[in-house]
Amino acid sequence: MSDAVSMTRERWAATQRYVVELFADPDPQLASLMDRAERAGLPRIAVSPDVGRLLALLVSTTAGRRAVELGTLGGYSAIWIARALRDHGELVTVEHDPKAADFAEAEFRAANLADRVTVARGSALGALVDIAASFGPGSVDFAFVDADKLEYPAYWSRLRPLIAIGGYFVADNVLGTGSWWIDHEDNDARRAVDELSRTVAADTAFHSVILTQREGLLVARRVR
Ligand code: SAH
Ligand code: MG
Repeated sequence: MSDAVSMTRERWAATQRYVVELFADPDPQLASLMDRAERAGLPRIAVSPDVGRLLALLVSTTAGRRAVELGTLGGYSAIWIARALRDHGELVTVEHDPKAADFAEAEFRAANLADRVTVARGSALGALVDIAASFGPGSVDFAFVDADKLEYPAYWSRLRPLIAIGGYFVADNVLGTGSWWIDHEDNDARRAVDELSRTVAADTAFHSVILTQREGLLVARRVR
């Protein structure tokens, strides 16, 4: 391959900017949400608008009744997911940082989504026990995991039995984050995420793939 077309950090950034420009935020609340979140002291680590669109697109191909998110932050990805649910659909999104949970709840009210989004305050693994008890096996149409990367394999083992046929398990940052990246660093977060991706790829009850958008998304759909 010639240098002109080989992937570099700059080319990757330009490619991402192009995609985000094409698939920008559709309204002022989403467009300003992470600026406001940053001013409130939250880190700027939400998914990009194109990934938000992808989450909504996937939700719209399901029954759209029940969704679970691990890692709410300011509510950016949750708003995309919740809007794509059917009428009377519900999203439970889990967040252990009270400052983030407060901020996100205000955003859900401003988006008129307070009736369909519940913020579960506490640890992701703890909340999954309650979610399993209240939702039950085979009842979750969409699960988005984006909390502690070290816990990704545990999120999968607890969420897998809950996913409905035709439902999705989606994990963010499966190719890297600001602090590690799949091609050049070996650390515990990378090992945990790699373990998740290999486990899901080998699971014949799911059709799965990794999309390279932003920091990588594992997308798995339950087929039986
Ligand atoms: N999904 C969001 C971004 C989430 S960032 C978006 O794209 O808009 C990750 C969030 O997970 C942070 O807010 C962090 O506080 C939360 N988090 C990390 N580990 C957690 C855990 N073990 N339990 C609950 N929340 C956790
Ligand atoms: Mg993420």
